[in-house]
Amino acid sequence: MAQQTILQKLEILADAAKYDASCASSGTAKKNSLGSSKGIGSTEGMGICHAYAPDGRCISLLKLLLTNHCIFDCHYCVNRKSSNTPRARFTPQEVVDLTLNFYRRNYIEGLFLSSGIIKTSNHTMEQMVEVARILREEHDFRGYIHLKTIPEADPQLVHQAGLYADRVSINVELPTDSGLTRLAPDKDARQIEGAMKGVKSSIVEATDARKRFKHAPRFAPAGQSTQMIVGADAATDADIVGKASRLYDGYSLRRVYYSAFSPIPDASAVLPLKRPPLIREHRLYQSDWLMRFYGYKAGEVMQATGADGNLPLDIDPKLAWALKFRGEFPLDVNRAPKDRLLRVPGLGVKAVNQILVARRYKTLRLEDVGKLTVSIAKVRPFICTPDWRPTQLTDRADLRALLAPKEEQLELFAA
Ligand code: SF4
Repeated sequence: MAQQTILQKLEILADAAKYDASCASSGTAKKNSLGSSKGIGSTEGMGICHAYAPDGRCISLLKLLLTNHCIFDCHYCVNRKSSNTPRARFTPQEVVDLTLNFYRRNYIEGLFLSSGIIKTSNHTMEQMVEVARILREEHDFRGYIHLKTIPEADPQLVHQAGLYADRVSINVELPTDSGLTRLAPDKDARQIEGAMKGVKSSIVEATDARKRFKHAPRFAPAGQSTQMIVGADAATDADIVGKASRLYDGYSLRRVYYSAFSPIPDASAVLPLKRPPLIREHRLYQSDWLMRFYGYKAGEVMQATGADGNLPLDIDPKLAWALKFRGEFPLDVNRAPKDRLLRVPGLGVKAVNQILVARRYKTLRLEDVGKLTVSIAKVRPFICTPDWRPTQLTDRADLRALLAPKEEQLELFAA
């Protein structure tokens, strides 16, 4: 077979990486090149692969697989060993050169590197660590590095990855252990969570050490994350939310990413024929948001699911919860505590904070609240002000129909 050019490899391995959703780069410490004559690269805390930071900057990561050869046979994966997808493999030096060249051309601010498993898990992990080592030690690269680690690899190698990377992630792959056993027979749920536990301990130890010794080595300062595939097995949204909550609590994850299963060429017969609706993935992200920023417990998000254990697709989970627990409403906007106001559909964290500030100086009327929200119609059934009482509205049998988005295109950023 003719030798592939770097461009051909890039085409295959950048495309193969698109199935990985977990490349957000939130929470890394700001770095810059000051104080060094040879350091290059600088990035700061917020951003995703191709997304805008709060300051408007687009943070881009070069997102690649080291190789899409794999000795494992996960049914849902286009790179599984039984797939006949075109294959390619970079050497560590090639990935380093690409990263530096892209960086110097100002195309990227960092690298997201994952890989299929070649030869053994340890061999693959060694190659990935080598990429990060060369970048950091030989080129003093100060850009962002996210390494996807291989749970089956030696913990010492995973530890080394964390010493070079800003973030490490280990995919749990599927929401249930039984799903993992069925669809990823080479993987082991206990091994995956064992690796996550090891990363968590290393992060805690490094954070403690740096409090005592200024020059103690960093370990994955942007934390660890994981990804779950949605819709490849029979797991319900309640299962997924429960698993995500357990992972957040158990392993101090920065993020759990959801990736709607997408049918792949020559798919295995054990997989569903159709991908789940994309809005399902979005509803799960909204539920994740409720747990991380709105104070909902996993059990409360689960209360928003229907009899089938899934979140409704036509309305967001916060509205679904409020409609089920109408007895909690209406809330007096001028008196209710923050944690209760955060339950009002249509009021985001920013709006609630603005309400808390504003009500110190004046009594808020419905019009004042309206100025803080995108849709006062969504908020009105759940609040009262001196000039507004929803009376029967909160309890109307058709309230859901009144509030559900009318358009085909469902709202993407509902609070
Ligand atoms: S380990 Fe499984 S998910 Fe990862 S590349 Fe190999 S087949 Fe795909």
